[in-house]
Amino acid sequence: MIGRKIKHAAELIREAKYGVAFTGAGISVESGIPPFRGDDGLWNSVNPIYFEIEFFNKKPLQSWLKFKKVFYDRLVVAEPNISHRALSKLGELGLIKSVITQNIDFLHQKAGCNNVFELHGTYKRLVCTKCSTEYDINIVDLNYFPPTCLICRGILKPDMVFFNEPIPDLVKKNSFAEAELADVFIIIGTNAEVYPANTIPLFAKEHGAKIIEINIEKTHFTSSITDIFLKGKAGTIMKSLMEHVNM
Ligand code: NAD
Ligand code: ZN
Repeated sequence: MIGRKIKHAAELIREAKYGVAFTGAGISVESGIPPFRGDDGLWNSVNPIYFEIEFFNKKPLQSWLKFKKVFYDRLVVAEPNISHRALSKLGELGLIKSVITQNIDFLHQKAGCNNVFELHGTYKRLVCTKCSTEYDINIVDLNYFPPTCLICRGILKPDMVFFNEPIPDLVKKNSFAEAELADVFIIIGTNAEVYPANTIPLFAKEHGAKIIEINIEKTHFTSSITDIFLKGKAGTIMKSLMEHVNM
């Protein structure tokens, strides 16, 4: 059954004129980065308050120390996995034109994808809360917290969208534009329960895209917009999918 569905999904991808992938924390689990929700999810052990913008503004040191422990220590050593590489390959083949991601881990780019829309920003860039100067993570000394701006001594914030912060207009606009153009839209490893990320797949569907969804369990998309649901770990499904696409 799953074999037939994978074959069908591979056919859609092979014939796509404008494939777009939409990814979430689940695609990076096999790179050793835990998701927020689920059995091994961060919310089982970490209070989400540390990721709220109001908390960061009030207590940046505490917020930073938590970020370092749960994200930065893992992110700096994480490598892309088979799913990130498969999407990069589909990009090279011209079968997908872009990746819209809610992840902040930079693994799509590390795998060679060059048209990535980071809806929730990236851990790789820090921005000064006073003068807005941007820094690449590689030139910031993360032995001292909170890190501060070399120009004005303002506190640096990860250039990620915190809870209660809006998504920057440009990336939002570009992501919806990609969804509108898509004829095949591949959702991988996301619950996308957060607005407005959760409306992007619906927008793709409304504009005629076929929806392929890969997840270890059903989501709210599965019974509403998904055309082909491929149940399983992203790595296992993507490996099999690529074998069929390359036929
Ligand atoms: P989530 O943590 O809410 O849910 C993870 C989803 O991935 C679930 O649907 C789960 O069933 C699925 N999943 C888990 N393991 C999988 C696997 N091996 N293969 C396929 N699917 C798998 O994640 P979300 O929906 O992306 O939303 C949470 C927010 O968390 C995002 O906005 C993102 O910014 C942030 N986040 C990012 C990272 C990262 O950058 N890697 C990690 C954790 C959280
Ligand atoms: Zn500054």
